Amino acid sequence: MKLPIVAYGDPVLRAKAEEIEEDYPNLKGLIDDMFETMYAASGVGLAAPQVGLPIRLFVVDATPFGEDDEDGPGDESAKDFKKVFINPIIIEESGDLWGFSEGCLSIPGINEEVQRKENVLINYLDENFEEHEVLLTGVAARVVQHEYDHIEGKLFIDKLGPVKKTFLKSKLEAISKGEVKTSYKMKFPQGRKKR
Ligand code: ZN
Repeated sequence: MKLPIVAYGDPVLRAKAEEIEEDYPNLKGLIDDMFETMYAASGVGLAAPQVGLPIRLFVVDATPFGEDDEDGPGDESAKDFKKVFINPIIIEESGDLWGFSEGCLSIPGINEEVQRKENVLINYLDENFEEHEVLLTGVAARVVQHEYDHIEGKLFIDKLGPVKKTFLKSKLEAISKGEVKTSYKMKFPQGRKKR
């Protein structure tokens, strides 16, 4: 079942999400729904707060970045990178900062280059509540850093400079009012109601 994606401006996107237990109601169904919702919106990652749930869970499938195309070979780190992250903890980010154009299903129509460190060491539980600790790099690290920010109540636009932020202000305001077109269903904090 596809879920509506929460738009910029909803407080759930600004909350620090809570850890969950293995008996979280219908967790398997929720994970399936999140993948279905993400694929239908052509996303490579989706965090639970984006479907209105303030819990520490996100799903990623970066394989589109791993495919070879006319621009050259795909990103090695993204090949087969499909995972569920539950109660993740970033232990360390390392390496040089690099820029990558990011977008967000909750902030449609805005893509900006964001600087992040190239490697991330992360501990997490998978969908079977088995613990893993992995060192990610490249695009795989990038997608995870973006989604991890969501469960910390942070958004990629927070990382932009003051000039960019000012420039985007009216666009963001429009998104929060539902004045944006998307191919997928969204939930807007202010609805379309006029004051
Ligand atoms: Zn996002």
